[in-house]
Amino acid sequence: MTEECVFCKIAKGEIPVKKIYENDSFLSFPDANPTIEGHSLVIPKKHFKTLLDLPSTLGPEFLDCVKKTTLKLIEKYKTEGFNLVSNNFPSAGQVVHHVHFHIMPRKEKDGRELRLNKKH
Ligand code: 5GP
Ligand code: ZN
Repeated sequence: MTEECVFCKIAKGEIPVKKIYENDSFLSFPDANPTIEGHSLVIPKKHFKTLLDLPSTLGPEFLDCVKKTTLKLIEKYKTEGFNLVSNNFPSAGQVVHHVHFHIMPRKEKDGRELRLNKKH
């Protein structure tokens, strides 16, 4: 944990969030600056900088948190699909250096596009 890490503060309850779901090792809550309705984050409760630092033994608990959170979002926002995204390292757009996963509920014709194969 680093002193200033905002996600460590959320995990410790020092910054209040509306928890969507939690298990022993992971927690989910709405993104403070949503890019789409229902945009939410999944974080490990312990501080790891990137996905490469996250112990593989936490895989089942990670999947549990992602799936339970997504099911709740799908029900709440009446969506059909979702994107699961993780930015790792600044070159890939990581701003908060405590690994996290964005869940973005998606609807047909919601006007958003996430196309990693787009060249420009
Ligand atoms: P990154 O670019 O690092 O993948 O995304 C970091 C995300 O964390 C951003 O979408 C930003 O809105 C979100 N975020 C940053 N600080 C806070 C906070 O204090 N509370 C919540 N709920 N989200 C935050
Ligand atoms: Zn942290």
